[in-house]
Amino acid sequence: MVQHQDPLQYIKIRIDDRPHIHQIDRDRCTKCQTHPCELFCPSQVFEWGEKGLNIQYQRCVECGACLRGCPHANIHWDYPRAGFGIAHEL
Ligand code: SF4
Ligand code: SF4
Repeated sequence: MVQHQDPLQYIKIRIDDRPHIHQIDRDRCTKCQTHPCELFCPSQVFEWGEKGLNIQYQRCVECGACLRGCPHANIHWDYPRAGFGIAHEL
C-alpha cells in the first residue's frame, strides 16, 4: 500500500470562510460508482460518506486536478478569493 504524505505540512494556506469548491449536482455524485475524486485529489479534499460528498475546501492546494478528474464534470472549482489560498511569501 502506498503511503501518501500530507502536502499541507509543506504549504501555508490562508483559509477563506467562503468555499471555492462546489459540487454541481448532488444526484450525479450519488450515481457515481467509484468516487475517483477521493483518489485524484492529492490533498484529500473529497471524501465520500453516508451523507454524500464532503468537500474540505480548506485543504485545497490549487493543483487544478479536479477540473479534469471528475468523470461527470461535477465539480465547480475556482481560485480562492484574493488574499486567500496558498501563501507564497516565506
Ligand atoms: S468523482 Fe465527481 S461525480 Fe464522482 S463523487 Fe467525485 S465529484 Fe461526485
Ligand atoms: S485543485 Fe482540486 S484536486 Fe487539486 S487540491 Fe484542490 S480540490 Fe484537490
